[in-house]
Amino acid sequence: MSTLHDSADAAMDREDHPEIREGVRRICADFPGSYWRDLDARDAYPSDFVEAMTRAGYLAALIPEAYGGAGLPLRAAGVVLEEIHASGCNASATHAQMYTMGTVLRHGSVQQKERYLPEIAAGRLRLQAFGVSEPSTGTDTTRLKTRAVRDGDHYVIDGQKIWTSRALYSDLMLLLARTTPLEQVQRRTEGLSVFLVDMREAVGHGMTIRPIATMINHNTTEVFFDGLRIPASSLIGEEGRGLRYIMDGMNSERILVSHESLGDARWFIRTAVDYARQRVVFNRPIGQNQGIQFPLARAYAQHQAADLMVRHAAAMFEAGLPCGEQANLSKLLSAEAAWEAAEACVQTHGGFAYAREYDVERKWREARVQRTAPISTNLILAYIGEHVLGLPRSY
Ligand SMILES: Cc1cc2nc3c(=O)[nH]c(=O)nc-3n(C[C@H](O)[C@H](O)[C@H](O)COP(=O)(O)OP(=O)(O)OC[C@H]3O[C@@H](n4cnc5c(N)ncnc54)[C@H](O)[C@@H]3O)c2cc1C
Repeated sequence: MSTLHDSADAAMDREDHPEIREGVRRICADFPGSYWRDLDARDAYPSDFVEAMTRAGYLAALIPEAYGGAGLPLRAAGVVLEEIHASGCNASATHAQMYTMGTVLRHGSVQQKERYLPEIAAGRLRLQAFGVSEPSTGTDTTRLKTRAVRDGDHYVIDGQKIWTSRALYSDLMLLLARTTPLEQVQRRTEGLSVFLVDMREAVGHGMTIRPIATMINHNTTEVFFDGLRIPASSLIGEEGRGLRYIMDGMNSERILVSHESLGDARWFIRTAVDYARQRVVFNRPIGQNQGIQFPLARAYAQHQAADLMVRHAAAMFEAGLPCGEQANLSKLLSAEAAWEAAEACVQTHGGFAYAREYDVERKWREARVQRTAPISTNLILAYIGEHVLGLPRSY
């Protein structure tokens, strides 16, 4: 018999791309909460999960068929991430491959694409590391200090990155570094360049990677560059235009990771509703109390609104329309929807939310990061204030 709960759950994942959703769910079923809890306890990388997703072709979703990928639209790739999160799994070990790919696809040379994309699609190479953030400059990306200086057929790299996730488990890193000093450019957005660094040759020869202990198992690291020499052919596109290339990919990145928050919200709401229907206190299911029911109803409403915005943004992106506003709104609303759902789920579970075996506390910690990375909520609000509402730039 179909219940309100079942239909609410069906409505939450209104089945576009049903085969992809089903395929991802089937894989995720082999990676239950115990798998993720074990990794969490050991700060370990989900190699088996990444391998299973790669084998099924999902991590090559955005690579064109000509290079051995699936050539799917952005929405389909987003659905993969959403289902991973809605299944209680985590896509952080895999998602960068989807969004860093865009920079190589759009701005890489034919030689770079022919050399790397088929290998990535086949799962023989991982492009999972994305080195933008630096310890002293934070969100103020144009002031980043990592330098790449041309020396004959090479660039020599010096500097430091922080929060470079998955660097220990990736073969390639997309790196943003300054090639022209800030004092010598007319606009501070100029003079930054993007490189596709082969980390297999770099580690131990000018690149050092150190893991950072964090509240979530995100395999994130600090990366130090000390005279690292990379071939000049590692440069993506033209020297000095790197920030533009990275910014070009921001909308797709925001839309993709918004799907993860949607998946999280679905997981929290489903898990909380199940618990609220079963847990009996004072001789009634706790879900009968408005104090439990209303936060879940509100979380559901927020999820539905965010879901519509994410679909809208993805459709605009695929139609080739400017979608900075929609991509940013998607990121803001989906991260907030997931966070409200996480709170409601924790509150619904009472003390049991804190017991690791329920996975609620793990998913709660994991969902929180979406309000900070890859872009923090404040910076999205600043974007909306300035670029959508036409208010003076606040920073
Ligand atoms: C788990 C994790 C994984 C990550 N993975 C990667 C990765 O793979 N690659 C990578 O390059 N980076 C990565 N990051 C970095 C992430 O993108 C940054 O942490 C994020 O962009 C914020 O930068 P910050 O930490 O330097 O904060 P800061 O820039 O120091 O900002 C701190 C706070 O101040 C606020 N703030 C700053 N300036 C303003 C302003 N003008 N107006 C209003 N508020 C402001 C911010 O919104 C934020 O809340 C990761 C971070 C985390 C936590």
